[in-house]
Amino acid sequence: MTWSVLIQGGTVIDGSGSPRQRADVAIEGDRIAAIGPQLEGPAERVVDASGLVVAPGFIDVHSHSDLFYLGCPSSESKIRQGCTTEVVGMCSFSPAPIAPGRADAVRGWAGGIGASVDLQWETFGQYLEALRSVRPSINVVHFVGHGALRLATVGPDNRAVAPDDVRAMQRLLDEALAAGAYGYSTGLVYPPSAYAVTEELVILARGMARRRGLYFSHVRGESAMVEDSIREAIRIGEEGGVGVQIAHVKVGGRENWGKMDSVLRLIDEARARGVDVSGDVYPYHAGSTKMDNLLPAWVHDGGLPRLLERLGDRATRRRIADECVVDGERWGTISQGRVGFDEIMIATCARHELEGLTLAALARQTGKAPAEAMMDLLLEQRATVGMVSFSQNLENVAKVLAHPAIMIGSDSIGLSEGVGPKHGKPHPRMYGTFPRVLGEYARERRLFSLETAVHKMTGMPAHRLGFKQRGLLRPDYAADIAVFDPLTVKDEATFQDPHQYAGGIPYVVVNGAVVVDGGRMRAAGTGRVLTPE
Ligand SMILES: [Zn+2]
Repeated sequence: MTWSVLIQGGTVIDGSGSPRQRADVAIEGDRIAAIGPQLEGPAERVVDASGLVVAPGFIDVHSHSDLFYLGCPSSESKIRQGCTTEVVGMCSFSPAPIAPGRADAVRGWAGGIGASVDLQWETFGQYLEALRSVRPSINVVHFVGHGALRLATVGPDNRAVAPDDVRAMQRLLDEALAAGAYGYSTGLVYPPSAYAVTEELVILARGMARRRGLYFSHVRGESAMVEDSIREAIRIGEEGGVGVQIAHVKVGGRENWGKMDSVLRLIDEARARGVDVSGDVYPYHAGSTKMDNLLPAWVHDGGLPRLLERLGDRATRRRIADECVVDGERWGTISQGRVGFDEIMIATCARHELEGLTLAALARQTGKAPAEAMMDLLLEQRATVGMVSFSQNLENVAKVLAHPAIMIGSDSIGLSEGVGPKHGKPHPRMYGTFPRVLGEYARERRLFSLETAVHKMTGMPAHRLGFKQRGLLRPDYAADIAVFDPLTVKDEATFQDPHQYAGGIPYVVVNGAVVVDGGRMRAAGTGRVLTPE
């Protein structure tokens, strides 16, 4: 028998958390055929891994690439971090389902993060087919967004839902699960998901328990109300009888940073009483989202057209500023805490000359108060502005990273490919999340062993998602593999200069195909849309 690929001479870290060992890895087709010291046998392709670590391909357990696959199926910025699978449909956003005639509402809702949103489907199943047809190079695990369920049934309005509405949402959720979704996600700071009361979310969770669906939660508030918000997410899983994942565990706003210990304690206590709760984090102290999410939820009531109307109305703008401006220099919302205008950076905008400017700098440049400059920009750009906001602290980031129930999710928005000039100053996590955990946090800061770091990116999320034969290096498992240099693996992307691929990851294999080969990308289109096992 001839193996298709033999990875020779490397050190295997198998993803389970077990200590490394010297071993070769043989691949036959899309599966791992054998793992052992000095495998002998003919192979069509031999990869020399001496001095390198051979690990399972990383699983990005929280990503927003779903709006970008259609334009960038190679997923280069993600795969070159060693990722072979990503979990999308997060934070209440998913491109499906879409109710007949409601595509515009979905476009206004999701388009702001810069994706091309050519929505050619209605059901979740039709959408997954469209995704398969572009042949992504990465494996995709899809959730259905609670916001999409609501837009398709209740619409964009802030109103209490009737039992019929909930039943309609349940039907769409069930349809999505049957088509291959792993569960549903909320973004309880993002309208219209934010308009749901806890009971609605418990009912939806309960409805998917028999299919073992999962609830992935961007919680209701990550600042002043963070503890109650974590309690709510845990309650939804506990009463719904489903597993819960707390997305990007963080505390925003310096006045709230001290709450992190009690946040982690809430997770520990729930686990101790048997609740299936875990979480994820990205290794940076800044977040990124659409800038219009700085506006209070009531400003979004009714969708984009109503939001723009409100931003155009003097009295309403004054009301927004009265509610949010703190001491003239910070902007505070219930969901995000108080962030200085000098800590909020324009990341992506059709006016590229503004990208990289903080709101404080924009205010100086335009001679306006920062709040006015921001609202003018949102109005002019029809809310299509991405931002990076430095609202967290690094001590908390390390604390969360080290927690035993926390895995790695980039929360990154966007994908890119090629080496030409690229516009925007997107969050560097788009290029650097996984190498940053390996290089900065495992090697340099020694926060945990390399084995633990790899486990948090592979075996742990694989277990969370219920994978049977993926996420570990074992015979008969899928041949998803990352090969990296433990001495040099490094994120190169910075906030000032984000469009930099990571270094020290020369080989990545997706379902048996060598996709990153000697540091060069060869988009193979061998990714699969995974469905629950
Ligand atoms: Zn989120």
